[in-house]
Amino acid sequence: MSKFHTETVTYVHHWNDSLFTIKTTRDAGLRFRNGEFAMIGIMVDGRPLMRAYSIASPNYEDHLEFFSIKVQDGPLTSRLQHIKVGDELIISKKPTGTLVVDDLLPGKNLYMLATGTGLAPFLALSRDPEVYEKFDKIILCHGVRKVEDLAYREMFEETLPNDELFGEWYREKFIYYPTVTREDFRNTGRITDLMKSGKLYEDIGLPPMNKEDDRVMICGSMPFNADISEILDGYGLIVSPRMGVPADYVVERAFVG
Ligand SMILES: Cc1cc2nc3c(=O)[nH]c(=O)nc-3n(C[C@H](O)[C@H](O)[C@H](O)COP(=O)(O)OP(=O)(O)OC[C@H]3O[C@@H](n4cnc5c(N)ncnc54)[C@H](O)[C@@H]3O)c2cc1C
Repeated sequence: MSKFHTETVTYVHHWNDSLFTIKTTRDAGLRFRNGEFAMIGIMVDGRPLMRAYSIASPNYEDHLEFFSIKVQDGPLTSRLQHIKVGDELIISKKPTGTLVVDDLLPGKNLYMLATGTGLAPFLALSRDPEVYEKFDKIILCHGVRKVEDLAYREMFEETLPNDELFGEWYREKFIYYPTVTREDFRNTGRITDLMKSGKLYEDIGLPPMNKEDDRVMICGSMPFNADISEILDGYGLIVSPRMGVPADYVVERAFVG
C-alpha cells in the first residue's frame, strides 16, 4: 500500500517573491494533531520528491493548507512555486512532530515563537479550541525580515478577532506580536533580543517568562531555536526530551540547513 495520498490543489496564493500558500483536498482517512508536519511533494521523473511541511490548517478542516518558502535552487520549491489549481500534490499518510499541546505540562500562558515559515504549525494551533481551553493567554511572536514577509497578518488582525467560533476567545486570550528586523514597523528587532531586553514583556503586558506559568513552542531556523532554548533554559524551563514526554517547552526546526 502506498505511503502517500495524492491530493488535488484547490488554491494557491503568492504572498511575495519568496512565500506562498497552497490548499489541497484532504483524504478523509488522514489524521493528525495540530502542530504536526507531513511529507509533501510532487512526482519528478517518476519518483516522489518530498520535503517535510507543517500542516497549517487545523485538523477539523476538510482541506489541507501549507505555507511555503520559495528557494530558487531548491529541488522541491523551485518546482512547487509553479504549482497550479488542479495539479496533484503527494502527502504522506502519517504526520508527526513535536509541536503538540499534549507534550506541554499545564500552564497559564502559551508562547508560540516563530521565524519565517516557522509560523506554519502555529497557524493550525491558533485555530485549535484545545489551545484556548488550556491556556489563559496565547502569545504568537512572528519574526521576519520585511513587513511584506508577515504573511497571514490579516488573519490575525482582522479575521480571527471577528470569527464566529473563535472571536470572543481570540480577543480575550490571543496576543499577535509580529516583529520585523530590516524595516521600520511597530515592533522591530529579533525575538531573542526582545526577550533579553524585556521589551517583549513590556509590550505585551506580561511578566518575563517563568517555569511556573509559561509554556513555549519554538519553530525557526536552527540558530533561532538554539538561541531561544538557551534563554528558556536560563529561565529554568525544561525542554521535552522526546515526543510523548511533556515538559515546559518543545522545539521543531522550520527547515534543515
Ligand atoms: C519538521 C520540518 C517542517 C518544515 N515545515 C516547512 C513548512 O511548513 N514550510 C516550508 O516552507 N518549509 C518547511 N520545511 C522545510 C522544507 O522541508 C524544505 O526544506 C523546503 O520546502 C525547501 O525545499 P527544497 O527542496 O526547495 O530545498 P532544500 O534543499 O530542502 O533546502 C535548501 C536550503 O534552503 C533553505 N530553506 C529550506 N526551507 C526553508 C524555509 N522554510 N525557510 C527558510 N529557508 C529554508 C535551507 O538553507 C536549506 O538548506 C520544514 C522542514 C522540517 C525539517
